[in-house]
Amino acid sequence: MALKENLQVPFVDLKIQYRSLETEINKALANVIQNTAFIMGPDVQAFETEFAGFCGVEHAIGVGSGTAALELILRAYDIGPRDEVITVANTFIATAVAVSGVGATPVLVDIDPETYNIDVSKIEAAITDKTKAIMPVHLYGQPADMDPILAIAKEHDLVVIEDACQAHGATYKDRIAGTMSHAAGFSFYPGKNLGAYGDAGGIVTNDGELADKIRLLRNIGQSVKYHHDIVGFNHRMDTLQAAVLRVKLRHLAGWNNARRKNAALYTELFSDSGIIPPFQAEGTDSVWHLYVIRVKNREALQQQLSDHGVSTVIHYPIPIHLQPAYAHLGHKQGDFPLTELYADQIVSLPMFAELTEQQIRYVADAVLEFAEPIS
Ligand SMILES: *Cc1c(COP(=O)(O)O)cnc(C)c1O
Repeated sequence: MALKENLQVPFVDLKIQYRSLETEINKALANVIQNTAFIMGPDVQAFETEFAGFCGVEHAIGVGSGTAALELILRAYDIGPRDEVITVANTFIATAVAVSGVGATPVLVDIDPETYNIDVSKIEAAITDKTKAIMPVHLYGQPADMDPILAIAKEHDLVVIEDACQAHGATYKDRIAGTMSHAAGFSFYPGKNLGAYGDAGGIVTNDGELADKIRLLRNIGQSVKYHHDIVGFNHRMDTLQAAVLRVKLRHLAGWNNARRKNAALYTELFSDSGIIPPFQAEGTDSVWHLYVIRVKNREALQQQLSDHGVSTVIHYPIPIHLQPAYAHLGHKQGDFPLTELYADQIVSLPMFAELTEQQIRYVADAVLEFAEPIS
């Protein structure tokens, strides 16, 4: 069977979204510039209020990136050298980098075979007397299995910090990602479901004391101008980014629904094909930051798709424990077998709200033509 048409399908296309909001976004940016409100301008606080409303939490705090968000939460809990934070081997490296950033040690756990999120049955074995926190990741937009994680944390008196950097608006048993634990970090990196026009991130929490401390920490410890209560950092959110995010937040729910529809069509087209589509755990509603399948001939498939105009990406090709940056953890090949196996099989297909049905059908046809199913 030859493909009937020849389309170009990018992995993501941020230009379509910009064109649909061009007037509004340009106006919002011009407003910041005309008022020279570059640092902690009114849009930052307005975005914080609006994002807290979107998540249904008391406090949202705008910061410079998702990595900074996670790091600031850890710092606010005084987690540092000699402490351990349990997280998952299959994630973007920034999860671990945030832990290292405060001087603590990331302790990795392998993944659940179906969801590719942290395997909750392996968490307790990773707890030591140095463990201070568990940092589950809602990878690809699908929430981790939070109830068992919260139960383990309660029993061992640990903080839970959600890495919600890929999960803006996802739900787990009707609770919104980022609101189920002590605090959560979000990324507004341009390609995320809610993306700024540069680096930006956010923290959400219902703990007012924690929020106050994080507000100080992100802004060089300053409570009143030139009054510094603690030694802080410069991790502020740019006002220009906040202005863009305010415009885009109004569209996030609609974009997430479009992604859900796109994912459902892919999954329908792959049914009975042997291609392993993403698994949706009972009670979770993913926001499909990524649509990740598993196949036997990943490299060959990527090449064929590329030759037919379809861009794909691997999230992530080298697990954290096998990265040179984390050689000091002393891990070796075989330590997290499922993470390693899947790292060689996964491929992320084009996924964004504005994908057309024709593009999805074309990508699926190409995958069905060139992919070798696993076993
Ligand atoms: C994007 C991302 C981060 C880091 O966010 P930045 O804004 O790029 O610093 C952390 N964790 C996960 C899972 C991510 O996808």
